Amino acid sequence: MRNGTARTHGAPRNSRLRADAPQTDDLSRPCDRPGCAAHGGFRAPKSRRSLNDYYWFCLEHVREYNRAWDYYKGMSPGEIESEMRRDTTWQRPTWPLGRIGLGPDERVADPFGVLGNAKPAPARETTEIPAELRSPLATLDLPWPVTRVEVKRAYKALAKRHHPDANSGDKAAEDKLKTINAAYTTLIRVLPAGG
Ligand SMILES: [Zn+2]
Repeated sequence: MRNGTARTHGAPRNSRLRADAPQTDDLSRPCDRPGCAAHGGFRAPKSRRSLNDYYWFCLEHVREYNRAWDYYKGMSPGEIESEMRRDTTWQRPTWPLGRIGLGPDERVADPFGVLGNAKPAPARETTEIPAELRSPLATLDLPWPVTRVEVKRAYKALAKRHHPDANSGDKAAEDKLKTINAAYTTLIRVLPAGG
């Protein structure tokens, strides 16, 4: 590099690469943050899986977005999930983020809910109760997801309570026990061993 005459090929004089320089010349693109009318000149990848798929924000909101992104960076999907699920119940998690990690490389797509106007991404399928398990889970009064250990524990308690021997051979108790047995069998069959 020669003194005072350093030049970058192709770059016009006085043009510096600035971290806060807009990344698009498309001035018609508004900030993706709902309610913000500023120019969305700064892009932010929607997730690590689709690094070529961007949101466009104004400078203020791209910074906000990146802060939210950084907040979850380094956390495992499980940690992100439990972070987001705090104060919520298993049945109806309210996702502050549009979508959560589905794998080690997946990251949040909509931190701080900027895209409130956009359609919410579907929740993880695994958090939804499989249709065929709704009834068995209700019978055993169990949440979803559930472990084999929990299923066995619940089954033991209910089977004992509804056993005909404990109910003077009562027919209703007998029917109830059959339902409990069927629910138990269904659940144990689908749950992975070892849990
Ligand atoms: Zn904005």
